[in-house]
Amino acid sequence: MADVIVIGSGPNGLAAALTLARAGADVTVLEANDEIGGGTRTVQPFGDGMLVDHCAAIHPMAHQSPAMAGLDAHGLAWAWPEIDAAHPLDEGPAGLLHRSLEETAAGLGADGRRWQRLFGSPSRAYDRLAPDILGPVVHVPRHPLLMGRFGAPTVLPAALLARYFRTEKARALFLGTTAHAMRPLTEVVSSAIGVGILTAGHHDGWAVAVGGTQSISTAMASALVEAGGKIETGVRVTSLTQLPRADAVLLNLSPTAALDLYGDQLPAGTRRSYRRYRYGPAAFKVDFAVEGGIPWRDPDVGRAGTVHLSGGAEEIIANEKTIAAGRLPVRPFVLLAQQYLADPSRSRGNVHPVYSYAHVPAGYDGDATEAVIAQVERFAPGFRERIVDQHVTSPAQFTAFNANYVSGDILTGSKTPGALLFGPRPGRNPYRTGVPGVYLCSAAAPPGPGAHGMVGYRAAQLAIRDLRLG
Ligand SMILES: Cc1cc2nc3c(=O)[nH]c(=O)nc-3n(C[C@H](O)[C@H](O)[C@H](O)COP(=O)(O)OP(=O)(O)OC[C@H]3O[C@@H](n4cnc5c(N)ncnc54)[C@H](O)[C@@H]3O)c2cc1C
Repeated sequence: MADVIVIGSGPNGLAAALTLARAGADVTVLEANDEIGGGTRTVQPFGDGMLVDHCAAIHPMAHQSPAMAGLDAHGLAWAWPEIDAAHPLDEGPAGLLHRSLEETAAGLGADGRRWQRLFGSPSRAYDRLAPDILGPVVHVPRHPLLMGRFGAPTVLPAALLARYFRTEKARALFLGTTAHAMRPLTEVVSSAIGVGILTAGHHDGWAVAVGGTQSISTAMASALVEAGGKIETGVRVTSLTQLPRADAVLLNLSPTAALDLYGDQLPAGTRRSYRRYRYGPAAFKVDFAVEGGIPWRDPDVGRAGTVHLSGGAEEIIANEKTIAAGRLPVRPFVLLAQQYLADPSRSRGNVHPVYSYAHVPAGYDGDATEAVIAQVERFAPGFRERIVDQHVTSPAQFTAFNANYVSGDILTGSKTPGALLFGPRPGRNPYRTGVPGVYLCSAAAPPGPGAHGMVGYRAAQLAIRDLRLG
């Protein structure tokens, strides 16, 4: 039987471990923290009962991920808010994103047809497209025509593609989603992540995991143990001497950590690429306990699971540019989530957990709490009076909790055009490190960040082939 070590228990580490264990390998996962899950954890900063997602919150790409297959038998259940996402504006009604393309289009007035034209055919074909999207960009597609239709607009700068829409509402709704990539939206390929999320969302919706995102890692761990795998927590791997003999090692680590660990064993090309690997801006997170929920000026925003707070198109574009230049905008982009709308088990009576984080420069060491509250107040006057409690996670605290979040970069690497196309190093296979039997399986590799587990799944498939398992 092949012995496999996985370092790190994020969703990709667990997906890799599960895929290999199901193929018959003897798998051990080593996790630095006392709790498993990495970016898929749920905590209780306000005391017993109120569930707060520590990192990942919303899952447009996890629901149908092959890496999550069969997890319902291990207690994983999904729930959806009435409205997937909202983008409130200073004047007029908010842009609203529904799972239904038609309903979204109906709310976008003059831009409804254009929204349908952009997302209609790829989202209807998402089942066939997903295997091509959820893997390396550079590959021979299974469905070249569909992939071409999906891929063509993703090459454009998001700021340019947004001009396809005529209304501020549609432009802001689109740009708010592309801003998830935390890159300047004037850069080529900056549409890619947003177009991917919107396409998947119109097919599967923006789900939350019932009981909190931790339910994803708990279910994966349960499936792993059932398949014979083991997990050891509290083991931070800093030297290869800590590892038992293994036929394969999968690194659920940043390229920088992989370089630290394997050093001169890596071929010169990999060493150079990992050394040059760039990290992006950070997140400054503020969780709130809110009495009676947020008093949004536009009541429809109170029905949305995710809310993008960054005003209109010009402001969103300027904000992401400012962050990339290392400065905090006066009114930073804030991503807010009201998961309790879909999953009421997270609340305590009439006090609800509200999740939010601002995009801030890499390594930001100031306090952005007031800026976050001001962004919410801007669209929900009276919010401040409803705050019962609040809890901050700074960029430095993210790094301390998870070494993959270098300088608070929650995406494990800047999503530059090169990184989007090739992952952490150019070459035919982004999961190979160049050391035989050692694979990279973190969000640094394609298809990139998110709690979908697809990086781990793809890296494990490669290891299964190399080990001639299954
Ligand atoms: C604030 C925030 C919000 C987010 N929102 C979303 C969202 O809404 N939806 C979404 O899909 N994604 C979201 N993400 C991103 C998502 O959480 C990550 O992309 C995902 O968790 C990456 O998974 P991973 O398996 O690659 O690694 P990680 O989840 O980063 O896990 C890596 C694991 O490796 C462990 N580790 C690191 N170094 C060592 C070592 N030397 N030895 C042993 N163990 C080690 C870490 O402790 C950690 O447990 C968010 C992330 C953050 C932080």
